[in-house]
Amino acid sequence: MYDLIIIGAGPAGLSAAVYGCRAGLECLLLEESTYGGQVTSTSEIENYPSVKKIAGWELADNLYQQAIGFGATLNFEKVLSIINDGNLKTVITDQNAYVTKAVIIANGAKRRKLGVEGENEFSGRGVSYCANCDGSFFKDKTAVVIGGGNTALEDALYLSNICSKVFLVHRRNEYRAEKYLVDSVMKNDKIVPLLSRTPVRINGTGSVESIILNNIETGEEETISTDAVFVCIGLLPDNSAFGDTVNLDKNGYIIAGEDCVTSSAGIFAAGDTRTKLLRQIVTAASDGAIAANAAVTYINNLEE
Ligand code: NAP
Repeated sequence: MYDLIIIGAGPAGLSAAVYGCRAGLECLLLEESTYGGQVTSTSEIENYPSVKKIAGWELADNLYQQAIGFGATLNFEKVLSIINDGNLKTVITDQNAYVTKAVIIANGAKRRKLGVEGENEFSGRGVSYCANCDGSFFKDKTAVVIGGGNTALEDALYLSNICSKVFLVHRRNEYRAEKYLVDSVMKNDKIVPLLSRTPVRINGTGSVESIILNNIETGEEETISTDAVFVCIGLLPDNSAFGDTVNLDKNGYIIAGEDCVTSSAGIFAAGDTRTKLLRQIVTAASDGAIAANAAVTYINNLEE
């Protein structure tokens, strides 16, 4: 039996494994896709303390090697539900049922979809959710990036090194990204900001050829010819497997404070999956440490 099961092998989960293992717990990480989480789709990270600049995949690999080095086990399985029977919890996956003393849910969040016509049809044929993964397919071509947050602006800057032109489409008349990113975008000749526009439809034959935008200020529709549409409009939690076990807020995030304690004893939530103000790698890693520490205390206080 594992002492601690950690669901998700992103920065929160892998940090939890480091802290859990170092405290002497047998830790199992369960991950449904690749370790590293959203970090792997980020080209460069330059706001993780003490690391001036690092590729996303490299940070993910460092986190993974560190956790495995301390003795954590990583299994690639999709978690379907958790049953909390008091002192013992059962984590049911698509392959196994594991009994454990404590659980940390650190499954992150996924990229939100636009929900416009053509998005699903051209997904993988011009529509992408990851500039770092797919940008190189559009060398010397035109790309549209949708969104006004850090991800959209970072991706537009990343694509400006590959594409001949990048349209940055946002529904408001100003970006919400951090100032240094907005300044860099404004100085970049290859990026054309298109503010106060909402996407209406993505068109093409076989692959993306254009996108139709609604100009909110004029009320008119505009057609932008493009080879790619990168959708960077934020995150959505994916906690449907846990809704019967822990309380979720109206947006689907697990309700847990800075102590990572959920409504279900012995089940903790860490990183982007929980209600929190700032979703960053550093806050996810911090959550992992806090949740693991809380799990250790919880396990130590269990009645024999
Ligand atoms: P975000 O900050 O939530 O921004 C999402 C953007 O998409 C917003 O501008 C939003 O518009 C727009 N949007 C949402 N739904 C839309 C829709 N249906 N149609 C059109 N536009 C839509 O998301 P994010 O940029 O992915 O960032 C997520 C989190 O990761 C944030 O906390 C961010 O700070 C963090 N992050 C940090 C870094 C870094 O520090 N280097 C890098 C990437 C991400 P409104 O502005 O109108 O709401």
